[in-house]
Amino acid sequence: MSSRIRVRFAPSPTGLLHIGGLRTALYNYLFAKKEGGTFVLRIEDTDQKRYVKDAEDDILQSLTWAGIVPDEGPGNPGEYGPYRQSERKERYLKYAEQLVDAGYAYYAFDTPEEIEHMKEHLRTPENPTPKYEIQSRMTMRNSLTLSDEEISRLLSEKKEYVIRLKIPDGERIHFEDAVRGPVSFESEMLDDQVLIKADGMPTYHLANVVDDHEMKISHVIRGEEWLSSAPKHILLYTYFGWDAPEMAHLPLIMSPSGGKLSKRKAEKEGIPINTKDYREQFYEPEALVNFLALLGWSPGDDRELLSMKEMVESFSLDRIGKSGAIFDHAKLLWFNEHYIRAKSDAELAKELQAYVKEVGIPHKQDDNDGLGDGSAEPDAGEGNISWPSLTEEQKKIFTDTKYMETVVRLLKERVSRLPDFLDSGSFFFEAPAEYDAKAVKKGWKEATPSLLQAYTSQLDIVEEEEFKAPLLKTRLKEVIEKENVGMGKLMMPVRIAVTGLGSGPDLFESMELLGKEEVLRRIHTAIEKLSGS
Ligand code: GLU
Repeated sequence: MSSRIRVRFAPSPTGLLHIGGLRTALYNYLFAKKEGGTFVLRIEDTDQKRYVKDAEDDILQSLTWAGIVPDEGPGNPGEYGPYRQSERKERYLKYAEQLVDAGYAYYAFDTPEEIEHMKEHLRTPENPTPKYEIQSRMTMRNSLTLSDEEISRLLSEKKEYVIRLKIPDGERIHFEDAVRGPVSFESEMLDDQVLIKADGMPTYHLANVVDDHEMKISHVIRGEEWLSSAPKHILLYTYFGWDAPEMAHLPLIMSPSGGKLSKRKAEKEGIPINTKDYREQFYEPEALVNFLALLGWSPGDDRELLSMKEMVESFSLDRIGKSGAIFDHAKLLWFNEHYIRAKSDAELAKELQAYVKEVGIPHKQDDNDGLGDGSAEPDAGEGNISWPSLTEEQKKIFTDTKYMETVVRLLKERVSRLPDFLDSGSFFFEAPAEYDAKAVKKGWKEATPSLLQAYTSQLDIVEEEEFKAPLLKTRLKEVIEKENVGMGKLMMPVRIAVTGLGSGPDLFESMELLGKEEVLRRIHTAIEKLSGS
């Protein structure tokens, strides 16, 4: 890799990887690959209070699942390791002390109570949240206000202290952001950021800047929520005498109802927020990645469906938008449908088999009248779904690859996600335990049982091996012609009887797959259960 482009994804392991984080990782990855550069994963785990044990595993699994594989990271170190900040602890203090010596930072010995007292004292309606900063620092106990003697004494007595950045007075801190253009902050807006905490650990700001420098990061690409930290980082680079990396702050991901897509909002709007949710709900990783890529970036033309390779080829920072990008879940499902349909029947059948082995099948419980709630929506009545182990009969079906491939072929155009095959196609795996009430109301009439019987007596005499879609259709046509009724008068009840639903995949092909014995049994059962209605 000859390019000097080095980017990093630097998550804090404080919980499951958010889809916003996945998008940040993706943009870093696309940029690195486009430029022939290196994509680094760095774990920013200096905040012990917020550390979550399994978070790093989740980050790695999520990135791998999405095909965003780091070139360097804790699992595959390059020459700039270690890649976990907790393993780099010793480095940070010396850098902070270097700033103290140069007059850009200072020791502060104030207790939390003293800081609280200062804030209380300075709080006014115009200044509701006073900070430790230019104005207040000179009233506090720090190496700017105490005598050298006092400082040496406190240090030798091992009194607790922090190291704070000394924000300059009356300066405008300016930088070019690759997404936002020129950005500037007045130094008065900033507080004297703690760089080293009382426990000796660095804060995010110090560790982040030191590591970006030591790891030779050329571009910092991260979420907009970090924009307000950038001026502090710029000051640190200046004070260390280092070149600052290029900065690119990505637009926020917005909720459809407005405002930032927070965890709470996402939950309310039924949007999965963690990458793990998408993994567990069997979304196609290519679909999520394609969708996230376009959530804030555009390839510069009207293409929407892009493979990772195509995204890499078209990627550039100047086509990332400034304004928030709205998360459109329906659009994501549209992508998912596309990627499902792009797979071969054999591939999908295999995935479905693996899915069932792992998760089981949704089992709709029988109810008394055999009538459903009228909703044919997939996922409807989720409360009724249990995940029993499969019956021997079902195991036979699920391991029958040819059967599964046909199920997939018949349903492929009708599903959004892999588990939908089991929902919309539940009748391929067990006889309907209930019938869609709306469909029954509309399509099951008084004359229905005798029409069905006319049809079944035709089917009875079809040889098992001749039980094929075209013939089943011909026989049905003959019956309706003879009885002089419209096609729907018979087709609808047959569909209800065989599938339990009012709509679905090709009826005759479905019947062929289920086989003569099963179809006849289902029609007789339906006549029995529904004849009173
Ligand atoms: N550790 C920060 C995070 O959790 C990194 C921010 C940055 O990229 O600078 O997102």
